[in-house]
This record gives sequence, C-alpha cells and structure tokens, in this order.
Amino acid sequence: MSVDYIIVGSGLAGLMLCEQLRARDKSFVVVSNTSQQASIVASGLYNPVVLKRFNMAWNANLHVPVALSAYAQIESLLGIKIDDQRPIYRIFNSIEEQNNWFLACDKPKLQQFLVPKAIENDNSNVLAPYGFGEVKFTGRVDTKLLLDSYRNHLKSKDLYREETFDYSVLELNHEVNYKKITAKKLIFAEGFGLKKNPFFNTLPLEGTKGELLVVHAPDLKLNVILKSSVFVIPIGYDNYLVGSTYAWNDYSNTPTESAKNELLEKLQKVISCSYEVVQQRAGIRPTVVDRRPLVGQHEIHKNLYVMNGLGSRGVLIAPSIAKDLIAHIEDDIALTKEIDINRFKS
Ligand SMILES: Cc1cc2nc3c(=O)[nH]c(=O)nc-3n(C[C@H](O)[C@H](O)[C@H](O)COP(=O)(O)OP(=O)(O)OC[C@H]3O[C@@H](n4cnc5c(N)ncnc54)[C@H](O)[C@@H]3O)c2cc1C
Repeated sequence: MSVDYIIVGSGLAGLMLCEQLRARDKSFVVVSNTSQQASIVASGLYNPVVLKRFNMAWNANLHVPVALSAYAQIESLLGIKIDDQRPIYRIFNSIEEQNNWFLACDKPKLQQFLVPKAIENDNSNVLAPYGFGEVKFTGRVDTKLLLDSYRNHLKSKDLYREETFDYSVLELNHEVNYKKITAKKLIFAEGFGLKKNPFFNTLPLEGTKGELLVVHAPDLKLNVILKSSVFVIPIGYDNYLVGSTYAWNDYSNTPTESAKNELLEKLQKVISCSYEVVQQRAGIRPTVVDRRPLVGQHEIHKNLYVMNGLGSRGVLIAPSIAKDLIAHIEDDIALTKEIDINRFKS
C-alpha cells in the first residue's frame, strides 16, 4: 500500500489530521491502538473562557470558528450528531464574583463570549444563591461517538490498522516504510503514548490524569452546563457528566476511589437532589509545561512529524492545530513559535 501519510494515533489529534488530509484529497492510513483513552473518556466541553480567572482561553477567538466548522463537517460526513451546543452557567459564589463578572464583560476579548447580566437561579435542586453568569459559544462534543464512528468509517475504507505501532521496524529513507505501507510522511499523534516514541520522547510532555463520573439524577432537570468547582453537563436521559479531577502521580487509566470521593464532595455543593453514580472514567491528558501544543518536524528525519500536547482543551484546539500542521507541511507556512517544538531546542 502506498499513501501520502501514515498517522499514528486515533484520538482527537489523529482524527483532526485525517480531516485536514481528506479536505486536501491526500491519501492516508491510520495505525492506532486504544492504550490511551483521553479523547474517548473526555467530557468533550469546548469553552472559550477560563472560568476561574475570567480570561479568554488561549487564542479562543480563532479556535472556536474552526472547531465548530470541523465538527459540523464530521457530522455531515458520518451522518451523526456530536456537537451539543449549550451555554455554560458559571455559578457565582459571592457578590464580589458577580462584580468581577461585570468587569470581565467589559474586557474587549471577552465581550463576545460573556452575557453581561446575572441570571437568577430558578432550579430548586441547584445551589446558587448568587445566580449565574452565562458563557456563549460553548457546548459539548460527544467524543466517544465521534471516535467510535470515525474509526468505523476508516475501517470500512480499509484505512485503519488496529495495532501498537512498532517503532523498531520503521524504515526511513526519502520515503517512510512501515511494514507493507510506503508513505511520503508520517505524523505521530499518540497522546501520552508519546513517552514510548524513540523519535520524540525527549519533548517535555507531562501527563495529567483526569477522572469523571456519570450520574443519574432524574430530579435535576438541568438544560445548561453548570460550572462551579466541577462541571455538571447534561448528556440526556437524566444523566450528567461530573468532572473532572487533575492528578500528576498516576499514569494509569484506572478509576480511583479518591477521585470519586473528590468529585462527589464537590457535587454536593452544587446540587441538592438525590442521584446515583452509574459510571466512572479515567484517562491521561497530554499536558506540556508551558500549556501549549507540541507540533513540528523531526530534527533529523525530515519526513517525521508530531502533533501532541493538546492538554485539557483538545476539543477546542485540535482542529486548528491540525490545520496549522498540514498547512505547514503542504504549503510551507511557518508554525507559530508558541506551538513549534523548536521552542524547546537548547
Ligand atoms: C477525564 C478527562 C476529561 C477531559 N475533558 C475535556 C474536555 O471537557 N474538553 C477538552 O477539550 N478536553 C478534555 N480533556 C482533554 C482531551 O481529552 C485531550 O486534550 C485530547 O483528548 C488529547 O487527544 P490526543 O489525540 O492528543 O490523545 P489521545 O486521546 O490520548 O489519543 C492518542 C491515541 O494514540 C494511540 N496510541 C498511543 N500510542 C500508540 C502506539 N504506540 N501505537 C498505536 N497507537 C498509539 C492511543 O491509543 C490513542 O488512540 C479531558 C481529558 C480527560 C482525561
């Protein structure tokens, strides 16, 4: 088999690369296992505002339109609904926070995303005596449905090899040879799996474990996404995602009792009705010291590239970062310094 690209990994990064290549009529094949779970377990939120400090998330004004258009294109390609557009209601904890909200609404970068009023709480099962601030252009992508459907789509076209990539059999000349596949270029998009990649494992990728719960709360009747010390996200059938945690000393995908207790403790402060925990999920976010993606070309093997470091905002930024990388390779457009892996060259 001869293709333009081999993509290693089929999380958000890998699949957004596929979409960019598809748009350019480039041929590709994906090699992926399911050792990393970040994309499939993620809450799937996209949110242009940092709701702790009321700042715009990095380049969110640029990333939002690219992301919305990318997910709409996948919906039409696969005939599925994955983008659930819904406002986030940030719970105010005090009058002071309400005041800070109004100050934030006046910041030029935030004006388009924040609604300049305090919304009263009319849900007796939500604990929010100071009301809420509403964020616009937010929502949730059903990442599990996206990944399952996209992988099936690739399998149906014989473009998906379900296996652990064997770095030791990769042959690098003017072309890339991997087993029986010949390609012009190869892009690694393995999430935290990058740690085992001998070509790029010196990049400063950290892992941050995240866990979340699915709870069934028939009396909650919530139509918006709530944000307090946790997010409470309606996913239908009276089920809600509650997440997520951050941990730096455990790199397994195994759910823990301590994360469950932490989330339940926080949930008690947000809702007052009864609920039942129906599921717990965990995965490792591919995070980077400077909180920016890791994108670029291998220093010696010029037909090897990497796309990683999507951190805790992969849903929002993956479409733009994939677009930038493919434009860099195909059109010779320079990567910005803040995402280029060369920023870590000593
Ligand atoms: C609990 C939790 C909640 C989150 N919530 C959100 C959220 O609400 N919004 C948001 O934007 N982000 C969220 N994130 C972060 C988001 O999940 C990540 O930014 C994103 O999924 C990273 O995508 P990725 O493709 O780089 O990595 P991954 O999803 O880890 O994908 C990497 C893929 O490569 C494969 N792979 C790895 N090594 C190999 C190998 N050697 N051979 C073959 N295949 C390999 C893996 O199995 C996997 O399929 C959350 C993460 C967690 C853990």
